[in-house]
Amino acid sequence: MLIVMSHKATKEQLDAVVKAVEAMGLRAAPIPGSERVAVGVLGNEGYVDDLTIRDLPGIQEIIHVSKPYKMVSRDFHPQRSVVEVCGVRIGEGCRPVVAAGPCAVEGEEQIVATALAVKAAGADLLRGGAFKPRTGPHTFQGLREEGLRLLALAAKESGLPVVTEVMSPDHVEVVAAYADLLQVGARNMQNFDLLKELGKAHKPVLLKRGMSATIEEFLASAEYILAGGNPDVILCERGIRTFETATRNTLDLSVVPLIKELSHLPIMVDPSHATGRRSLVPPMTRAALVAGAHGILIEVHPEPEKALSDGPQSLTFQGFAALMDDVRKLNSFLSPDRERQGGECCG
Ligand code: PEP
Ligand code: MN
Repeated sequence: MLIVMSHKATKEQLDAVVKAVEAMGLRAAPIPGSERVAVGVLGNEGYVDDLTIRDLPGIQEIIHVSKPYKMVSRDFHPQRSVVEVCGVRIGEGCRPVVAAGPCAVEGEEQIVATALAVKAAGADLLRGGAFKPRTGPHTFQGLREEGLRLLALAAKESGLPVVTEVMSPDHVEVVAAYADLLQVGARNMQNFDLLKELGKAHKPVLLKRGMSATIEEFLASAEYILAGGNPDVILCERGIRTFETATRNTLDLSVVPLIKELSHLPIMVDPSHATGRRSLVPPMTRAALVAGAHGILIEVHPEPEKALSDGPQSLTFQGFAALMDDVRKLNSFLSPDRERQGGECCG
């Protein structure tokens, strides 16, 4: 429920509304606006009967929110959020960021070489999976804790912050000890125990869209993390499953502007998993930037033909460097002011 106060409402009237909400055992979150204040009501598990509130002075309107998400919505939080990962700012008004690296950490040489190459090409973050969610049990499952240790080493060598996946609530602590941004993969978007645990984590979260998740389900999953107390969530569109099989998934780019309408959370795009094909990654990266993505997630491997996972969609170092040239040109065309500010947010 959202209680919209009149523009003439006094501080006392607002306080009385907050008190009345709290007296119902619910939480009241005042949302200041340019013309009027609204009060978001949180903590209810269904319809809230507004009988004891509706006649209080100073209220202009009461809106019953039937969506399964509130804290992530712009109704409750009109200002767009910027999430910071070790000084890298991600969100509206910031230069779009690029996270790049292999699908999986395979060994020290591979991850350190990739970290240095993507850093030299201009990436902002290093990606790499240590705990890998693989479709079948007979494929490479990741180096797990050893992979985390190697990621930390590559981060130190390159100076890049690290994003890596956490698959289970039991691993949040250990992954958070090494990573700067905790990734929830598509297959775990609705692992609610994991989301609840991440709500208690003190690291930002990159939440990927489930392969058959609606936008409402996607945002409801993000709501779990915010409701648990962690406000730093970045969403990531990574393609959805459709009837089409020529591409690995279908990249739903309309999500980018739609998420910006519905939510204050930043939205990134992963063209690698969305297409599954190396040749399609550069054009879809450019398309995502034009659509307004706040960041891009790209798989890069020193020898894609030898990669233990996702080789066909991984860029070579050379391919990635060429793409970064395009990204820079496109960013300076789309928002010349941001480029001049050296990547700082201007919004
Ligand atoms: C990944 O980013 O390594 C990954 C497994 O992606 P997704 O969860 O989107 O399939
Ligand atoms: Mn992958």
